[in-house]
Amino acid sequence: MGLLSLGTPLHWNDAKNHADKVRKHGIQQFINIYHNLKDRKNDVLLWGDEVEYMMVAFDHENEKARLSLRVHEFLPGLQEEEIEAAKRSLTVPTAWRPEYGRYMLEGTPGSPYEGSVHDLLKVERNMKLRRQTARKHMRENEAPLTLTSFPKLGSGDFLEPPHPAKGDASRSLFLPDEIINPHARFPTLTANIRRRRGSKVAINIPIYHDKNTPKPFIDPSIPADRGLFPEDKEASAGAALPDHIYMDSMGFGMGCNCLQITFQASNILEARRLYDQLAPLSPIMLALTAAAPIFRGLLADIDCRWTVIAQSVDDRTPQERGKEPLKDSRFVINKSRYDSIDSYLSLDSSFKPEYNDLDLVYDKEIYQTLRDNNIDDLLAKHVSHLFIRDPLVIFEELLEQDDDVSSDHFENIQSTNWQTLRFKPPPPGSQIGWRVEFRSMEAQITDFEKCGIRYFCCPFDAGNPDIQS
Ligand code: GLU
Ligand code: MG
Repeated sequence: MGLLSLGTPLHWNDAKNHADKVRKHGIQQFINIYHNLKDRKNDVLLWGDEVEYMMVAFDHENEKARLSLRVHEFLPGLQEEEIEAAKRSLTVPTAWRPEYGRYMLEGTPGSPYEGSVHDLLKVERNMKLRRQTARKHMRENEAPLTLTSFPKLGSGDFLEPPHPAKGDASRSLFLPDEIINPHARFPTLTANIRRRRGSKVAINIPIYHDKNTPKPFIDPSIPADRGLFPEDKEASAGAALPDHIYMDSMGFGMGCNCLQITFQASNILEARRLYDQLAPLSPIMLALTAAAPIFRGLLADIDCRWTVIAQSVDDRTPQERGKEPLKDSRFVINKSRYDSIDSYLSLDSSFKPEYNDLDLVYDKEIYQTLRDNNIDDLLAKHVSHLFIRDPLVIFEELLEQDDDVSSDHFENIQSTNWQTLRFKPPPPGSQIGWRVEFRSMEAQITDFEKCGIRYFCCPFDAGNPDIQS
């Protein structure tokens, strides 16, 4: 779920003083990448999927299934083959990355698929192999499940080993910090979102009323005040809405699983067209893959994870959310960092200016810098829209970067704009071309279903004679 840099992560009180610097250099890095690589062409269609797994431990004796927090114990072993192969410029069939939750795991094919039908047939085989490979590193009673949300997350006896909720990063009433990946980026991200916002995140999902659900439903498990943290009072002071399932921690959203697909286009124009063509498909595919009807053990009146994640990382200040007049914040922002895209990017005849009919919030100064550097209006608006956000995790040792060779500051902001689609420039100095990541789909329980879903949004006809390389 983003850049995994190493170093000393800064507390929000320090990080915020470096936000302008990260933005300024991030933009310079983007400008350099753009001008170095805008004419790159003839890249072949390469693509790959990312599947997120939750490791579940089954306690057959007591008929319980719990999230197992052991993934980081065996992840280095799971990655070893890939690391060794990379040293000899070889590839392996499966690749593994950590994710937000200590019970989560992300698996991809070891090298990208190509654009042939033959390669489509490799997908299900590779997904099955991934499950078998991960399983070899797990205990007999553990399994990698592709559930979108774990129904009992944050409710009762759901963790192996158990931990009480009293962590300083999230300050949650329900989720211990022990569910968060121990890499410094993740607890810092969790804490800095809370600090920047000025309160805990408040996720409210309408509850499903069946005949036994009280009306109004007031969650009986919310304590008035545990006295552990000042934030404990928030829930009963209005953050928890009646008739809603209330959740108060980033883990409720980022602890969900999904299926993402990244496509390499033949050139930048094709990538921009692909981005636009996939935009209307992203909510459709979210609805078709909907797989998250239960949160904190309660049946919801929705069936997708999307709004849960959007609310779980909503770091906007009260001023940015329009709750208070603008004073220290720079913009009123109508969406969370995790949300749908706000503008189209194509330059070819399929795009009409009236399609960009949303009131786009963007940083006018950054827009002007991009325009002054010969970046067209649509792309300049797209990037200056992403750059209305602050960098949330800054590593002290990585503040000074060489903008000619690094994309670190650009990626810091780009990869914490978790939108339905991501337009991805080539990393400097790599073989990789211009890419688009399709991010809305929920995880399906079987590999067969996941493959079917992936075929459905196949972009093999995205080519346009106007923009062929
Ligand atoms: N787990 C997140 C989701 O369910 C995605 C994180 C990522 O961007 O990899 O959408
Ligand atoms: Mg991921």
